[in-house]
Amino acid sequence: MMKVLFLDIDGVLNDGLGAVIQPDRVALVNSILDETNANVVISSSWGHVHGVVRVSKMLVEQGFAGEIIGGTTKGATRGEEIAAYLADHPEIENFVALDDSVFMHPVSANWVKTSGRRGGITQEEALAAIEILKGTKSDN
Ligand SMILES: [Mg+2]
Repeated sequence: MMKVLFLDIDGVLNDGLGAVIQPDRVALVNSILDETNANVVISSSWGHVHGVVRVSKMLVEQGFAGEIIGGTTKGATRGEEIAAYLADHPEIENFVALDDSVFMHPVSANWVKTSGRRGGITQEEALAAIEILKGTKSDN
C-alpha cells in the first residue's frame, strides 16, 4: 500500500520566518514515517525554488531519514498542487498533508495544520498525521 506524506517546510519544519530547517521537527516527521512507511513528496515553495534534490540534501543534513519520491508543481493553491499530484499518481492509496497553509481545498480531510507560531509540527500533530495515514481517523 502506497502512502504519501506531502511535506511543506516553512511553518512545518521551522517557524516560517527564519527559513532554517529545525532538526527536532524533522525528527517528528521521521517518527511519522517510521510508524506508517509513508514516502514523502515535497509540497513547498522550497521545492519550487531549490528543486527537490537540493531540498532532500538540506533535509538529510538535519537528520531526515525518509524517502523522497518527488515534488508537487506550482498550482493556484497548495491544496490544488497536491490534488494534481494525486491525479497523476493513482498508485497512492492514502496520504496526509502537513501544512500551515489554510488553502487546502480539495484535500482538507487529509490535512494536519501546523503553525509557525508553535515553531512547526508538534507531537500531537505528528500523532494526528499517523492516524490519517493508518486510516483510523473515524471522522475522515
Ligand atoms: Mg508553509
